[in-house]
Amino acid sequence: MRIDVVSIFPEYLAPLELSLIGKARQDGLLELNVHDLRDFTTDRHRTVDDTPYGGGAGMVMKPEPWAQALAAVAAARPEAASAETEASEAAARPVLIVPSPAGERFTQATAHELAEEDRLVFACGRYEGIDERVMEWAAGHFTVRPMSLGDYVLNGGEVAVLAMVEAIGRLLPGVVGNPESLVEESHSDGLLEYPVYTKPSSWRDREVPAVLLSGNHGKIAQWRRHQQYRRTAERRPDLLTEFDAAKLPRADRTAFSDLGYDVVDGHLRRRPDAGAEQS
Ligand code: SAM
Repeated sequence: MRIDVVSIFPEYLAPLELSLIGKARQDGLLELNVHDLRDFTTDRHRTVDDTPYGGGAGMVMKPEPWAQALAAVAAARPEAASAETEASEAAARPVLIVPSPAGERFTQATAHELAEEDRLVFACGRYEGIDERVMEWAAGHFTVRPMSLGDYVLNGGEVAVLAMVEAIGRLLPGVVGNPESLVEESHSDGLLEYPVYTKPSSWRDREVPAVLLSGNHGKIAQWRRHQQYRRTAERRPDLLTEFDAAKLPRADRTAFSDLGYDVVDGHLRRRPDAGAEQS
């Protein structure tokens, strides 16, 4: 996969040289290029912003530097591109992700979807954001996806890009040493992960749950599933409404019943009288 990031603070993306993503880059699993938007300005002051039409507070990012930068990025070929991959890339437009609190929510499902792409381009906004016409223009060259990290406002797109690139990059084949560790994570199956423990088994008068020391893999798997249900019900009950409960075994239905949920038409429904049971 090739990723390009355009920002007025290219240094902000330096953490992507570290840890698993940095190693993936070194190993050639991921090509990542960071571009300074100001390199695509033409004035002496390298201006990227101007006052908003219609008035109001703050500044807006000017369209032309963005068009220049994105056109240059769109024209660039991955280092490892063969004639064959160049032909297939010409057919498939790169995805342009525009971080924005007004975008669609970035989730684990989005990360999986984007990990299938050959090319991703990220456009880091600052100030009040990028002139809207850039997104219209870019739709002729990219599949444009405004994307939000969550329902809060950051100062710029860089932090969102760090998070998204890490979430996507760790799903690329070979990036995480043991792919099994991606399977039972929070959000991989629509639930939160169960609690995890390591040695020593007794620490400051706190014991690791006995079932984890039992060596009974069936019991451990069931305990972990039930812990997932409990944790998700307590912390993120919104996730349970989407959870496919049609094929739950009887013991799991009982576990959900104890948490105040019944299975109705394959979906979990909170019993109206269950309020007090949930902490
Ligand atoms: N005026 C914009 C609004 O209300 O929608 C917010 C602009 S914000 C101060 C500046 C930039 O930070 C945005 O253009 C975007 O790139 C980034 N940003 C802020 N919050 C974000 C979020 N929740 N997810 C992704 N990017 C965000």
